[in-house]
Amino acid sequence: MNEQFQQALSVIETLKRHGHEAYFVGGAVRDYILQRPIGDIDIATSAHPQEVMAIFPKTVPVGIAHGTVMVIERGISYEVTTFRKEGRYEDYRRPKDVTFVRSLYEDLQRRDFTMNAIAMNEHGEMIDPFGGIEALKRRIIETVGDAAERFNEDALRMMRALRFVSQLGFSLSTGTKQAIMQYGHLLQHIAVERIAVEFEKLLLGPFMSKAIELLMETNLFLYLPELATKKGELAQLGASSLVPAHRIEAWARLAFVVHFDNQQLKKWKLPNHLIRDVSICLKALEHIRSLADWTIDALYEYGPYIPHIERTRAALYGDEPHVSLLMKQWEALPIRDRKELAINGHDLLALFERKSGPWLAEMIENIERAVLHRQVENEKEKLKEWAVCNQRRENNY
Ligand code: ATP
Ligand code: MG
Repeated sequence: MNEQFQQALSVIETLKRHGHEAYFVGGAVRDYILQRPIGDIDIATSAHPQEVMAIFPKTVPVGIAHGTVMVIERGISYEVTTFRKEGRYEDYRRPKDVTFVRSLYEDLQRRDFTMNAIAMNEHGEMIDPFGGIEALKRRIIETVGDAAERFNEDALRMMRALRFVSQLGFSLSTGTKQAIMQYGHLLQHIAVERIAVEFEKLLLGPFMSKAIELLMETNLFLYLPELATKKGELAQLGASSLVPAHRIEAWARLAFVVHFDNQQLKKWKLPNHLIRDVSICLKALEHIRSLADWTIDALYEYGPYIPHIERTRAALYGDEPHVSLLMKQWEALPIRDRKELAINGHDLLALFERKSGPWLAEMIENIERAVLHRQVENEKEKLKEWAVCNQRRENNY
């Protein structure tokens, strides 16, 4: 067992000491077997949420209705979820009610894919009733049980299948792929926000092009917001081998290639700050196509966004990203923000003894450009002098 599991062991041992069953489950076990870096550690237990909360000193009831309690041990949080099976599925969505069960088997059975339905006990032994380890060896994503049935229960699982393709580079089992072809339309019943979470992970995966290919081959793309008519553009998205380093880059690359505008991004119900960041990148990418397009003005305008824009540019044009070079150039600019100007509006009002008006903003902008292009030093007296001369020049015209 690796260090992360070793640390989490005390949670399992404490639950067991109180007479409950407890196992590591889900993505962490899968990634551990694959020898990939593991994310959050999830624990499944026969203890009910109230019992879990009574046992551990530090807990947060993050999803009591679904049986989930967050347990915090030595500063690390673990999701501890009661063995459960899900109630009746309605409208192809995750059911609202769940039933707690006392058996691990039933809990593993309700999980999406065999590779995600493996449990590990405190000795590092695997409990794998559905052949998940074998699937990992064969690099296959297959549903637990009948794929058609499982996708009818919860259609989001189809998107999850493809995001795992993108993250792991695995293939879909024949049955799983066929069921996606047949039931892709059920994705229409799923909340856009939930689709977006999985699609974003797909966009960020190292095997994104493989997943995009499958999105098209299975026709699942037809049920993604604003993408049904973009098959040709989507095909292009798979072309780059550069993995986006950030969600902003993932969405910016997509939006650029499929020609999304703000309205279309909004259909994905992304958070406003993300839409804003993506829009800034898109605006830059309209005119920054090569390294040479990074002018002083462009560096100044995009500042902190340079890494996102540059990496996206490089991915779009099959180029090398030159992030550190550009960041050095940006840091070496005389100013990086208007706030760094050694003169402000008050100074100028006093200097010219004029009432505020459009002239003021224009003058500040002129000073800003002049400082940026090193026509004048960013020093108060020099800027005053420059402003007065500049004003005279303008008046002479
Ligand atoms: P990641 O490492 O990306 O978090 P994960 O496998 O842990 O991957 P989660 O979304 O965190 O994925 O879900 C945790 C576990 O819960 C999964 O491994 C799976 O067993 C189960 N699960 C999640 N979503 C579903 C679903 N829609 N249907 C059935 N089981 C699911
Ligand atoms: Mg997880």
